[in-house]
Amino acid sequence: MPAYDVAVVGAGVVGLAIARAFAQDGASVVVLERQPGPGREQSTHNSGVVHSGAFTRPGTLRARLAVEGNRRMFDEAPRLGVAIERCGTLVVARVDADVPRLWEYERWAAANAVDGVQRLGSSEAKEIEPALAPCAAALWVTSGGRIDAAGLVRALDNDLARLGADRRFDFDLASALRGDSGWTLSTRLGESVEAELVVNSAGVRAARVAGLFGSTGHRVYPCLGEYARVVGEKRSWLRTMVYGFPPPGYPGIGVHLTRTTSGDVLIGPTATYIDSMDPPPLPHTSLATFAELASAYLPGLTERDLEPAGAGVRAKTVPPGSGEAFGEFEIVEEPPGSGVVHLFGFESPGLTASFATADHVRAHWPVGRT
Ligand SMILES: Cc1cc2nc3c(=O)[nH]c(=O)nc-3n(C[C@H](O)[C@H](O)[C@H](O)COP(=O)(O)OP(=O)(O)OC[C@H]3O[C@@H](n4cnc5c(N)ncnc54)[C@H](O)[C@@H]3O)c2cc1C
Repeated sequence: MPAYDVAVVGAGVVGLAIARAFAQDGASVVVLERQPGPGREQSTHNSGVVHSGAFTRPGTLRARLAVEGNRRMFDEAPRLGVAIERCGTLVVARVDADVPRLWEYERWAAANAVDGVQRLGSSEAKEIEPALAPCAAALWVTSGGRIDAAGLVRALDNDLARLGADRRFDFDLASALRGDSGWTLSTRLGESVEAELVVNSAGVRAARVAGLFGSTGHRVYPCLGEYARVVGEKRSWLRTMVYGFPPPGYPGIGVHLTRTTSGDVLIGPTATYIDSMDPPPLPHTSLATFAELASAYLPGLTERDLEPAGAGVRAKTVPPGSGEAFGEFEIVEEPPGSGVVHLFGFESPGLTASFATADHVRAHWPVGRT
């Protein structure tokens, strides 16, 4: 008999939420994490935005899990004692040329059944964000929010302990062998665990982990997202979250301005494909560049008002030069019946979607329900 019903590879928010869902169903669960603690990669190096799902291409799993994930996050986070606020999101067309893209977002929001979307003129937008530069038009999305992502990681990890699930840190999965009744998962140091079902939620390393199970056809392209933080009195210049439109072909939603649950104002993330799965030496982007990007929205912000604020590495499945901003969230058992479920492409809005993703995995691969 396998020692565990389920092993989840990766203790990011998505892996932890999946592990918790199985543990809540009474399954015996272990989380395997190569780092010394939970959530050290994408899950604590992000904007902490709870996306509405309004700006996600309709008809995709990504859109469905974002919209559902927003609702689930606002249910679960307060229960877990995690700071979360429904502060709203402002999307700004700074110039007339951006307005058609704004209305496209409005259509996407309607197709994704996102409520609380409102067209605003420049003066109405300034009522929400008084320091904002004049704009051609804006959309106000009331369901957008922010969460303490590091707090969510801690709360999920604590809840797993409460539910009796094991977490093995410093467990860098290096080999997987299929036996009669499940998988034996081992590190190079010879530690191993056995499990009947394996969920690969290894973020930017998901394709590498998939290769250990014989699934060699996947690629994940690391993409650096770097931040600057506003320091001093100009921190009061932002209340909510302000998004604009990046140049066509940009690999993401564009640099935006976010007020976090702790009151920090972040500018970023940038989007630069890199060769390594870990961030390069930082800072990589100059404060002058951040100031130029941000002052288009908050005029008067200069590089003297900013300091570097770290970076995350996205797990992108669209290659450099593809012209696509985002790939799809892929959740596949490969080959069918193998007992290994892989998650690919869990970049943004993967934080938002974490509980909805866990519901999806639990519904498709039920284990432990009595
Ligand atoms: C810059 C940036 C900004 C973002 N902003 C937002 C946002 O505002 N809102 C939002 O909803 N989403 C956002 N995201 C996306 C969100 O952070 C991710 O989708 C989410 O954190 C993914 O969680 P995860 O558990 O899949 O991956 P991760 O947090 O990356 O966790 C994967 C884990 O797997 C472990 N691992 C890898 N290989 C192995 C191995 N061989 N053995 C054991 N463990 C292994 C890693 O150490 C890691 O801890 C952003 C992401 C980035 C990078």
